[in-house]
Amino acid sequence: MSVKKGTAAVWAGEGNVNTKGAATTPIVNSVAFSYTDLDEWYAVATGKSPGYIYSRNTNPTVAALEEKIRVLEGAEAATAFSTGMAAISNSLFTFLTAGKKVISIKDSYGGTSKLFLDFLPKYGINVTLCETTDHEALEAAIAGGCDVLYLETPTNPTLKIVDIKRLAAAAKKVGAITLVDNTFATPINQNPLELGADLVIHSATKFLCGHSDAMGGLIAGSKQLVDKVFAFREINGASLQADPAYMIARGMKTLELRIERQNASAMRIAQWLQGHPKIKAVYYPGLESHEGHAIAKSQMRGFGGMMSFSLDGGYDLVSAFLPALKLAHLAASLGSVSTLAGPPRTTSHVELTPEQRALLGIPEGLIRYSVGIENVDDLLDDLDQALKRL
Ligand SMILES: *Cc1c(COP(=O)(O)O)cnc(C)c1O
Repeated sequence: MSVKKGTAAVWAGEGNVNTKGAATTPIVNSVAFSYTDLDEWYAVATGKSPGYIYSRNTNPTVAALEEKIRVLEGAEAATAFSTGMAAISNSLFTFLTAGKKVISIKDSYGGTSKLFLDFLPKYGINVTLCETTDHEALEAAIAGGCDVLYLETPTNPTLKIVDIKRLAAAAKKVGAITLVDNTFATPINQNPLELGADLVIHSATKFLCGHSDAMGGLIAGSKQLVDKVFAFREINGASLQADPAYMIARGMKTLELRIERQNASAMRIAQWLQGHPKIKAVYYPGLESHEGHAIAKSQMRGFGGMMSFSLDGGYDLVSAFLPALKLAHLAASLGSVSTLAGPPRTTSHVELTPEQRALLGIPEGLIRYSVGIENVDDLLDDLDQALKRL
């Protein structure tokens, strides 16, 4: 059929792109997928045949990313979200309804704490937050009955460590499922499912993407649990788009290289800071002086690129020290190729009021430091010159 220019501009060249053999996953930005066979369309739409219908539900580029985290976390299934918070809130709201109970720790990520403190209670969900490293208190609370145990380790921003194996076993005894935010460790350093967790959650915005240029969230676990969260996500619409999915998948190709480097650099920096007279405390699970070191050693293969430290003084010193750093973006976020630093009150826990931060035991004078992939000697020199100015 010969058509006029306006029609040709719309239809010519469409639908015949052969991407077979492409050395990287193509970015498929199509919102919908068309079928010439109505029976096949129906079979795919009703889940009887594999395929794609509409990208709020599934998309081939997003599926490639989901497959990466599924394999890296040793899971049966995985699904992606628009952000890490979308992954967390969708998971919590899937398994928790009015009258149900969730037990968690005081040190979870700021946005997650906000869900526990402000949002879940509004829906009639019972929330109990325990002292993060008090395993006896956590076990006692769990033994009293709960539906969901929600953990994060290492925690944000003081790098506390919780024993996944021990607490997941306690949860299993009362028929509760265990969700673990594995953002700080990444699957290179820690695999919560191997330790007994039921669902592992990531803010893919951080180490997985690794370049501070795309946002996303991921969960992985049994097909039964992931399917339940997926059913909620496809309706509430917190889906990941193909473009950021591609960016995150591309970042993940170098995940092991970056994490090995960041593990090694963070360890050297933590040791150096620990011996510095102007530093009051260093929080890094790789240090033998860290209260959670033994548990960290038993459940992690590396201690990660995140640390925090406090200066021997108040917030005044923090505001003099941070701008003196030349090789650190003073910015929220973490896990990037470039070093990032900031106080929790403007980064991880900005959502909270000063009272809520105090309640969670987060010192106002703390500095969170996310080690990048720069040469570690330069990072040490930079910290040294900034400390000398104080
Ligand atoms: C950043 C972060 C989140 C939230 O992820 P977003 O992608 O910003 O929504 C959740 N958990 C941890 C540990 C984080 O660092």
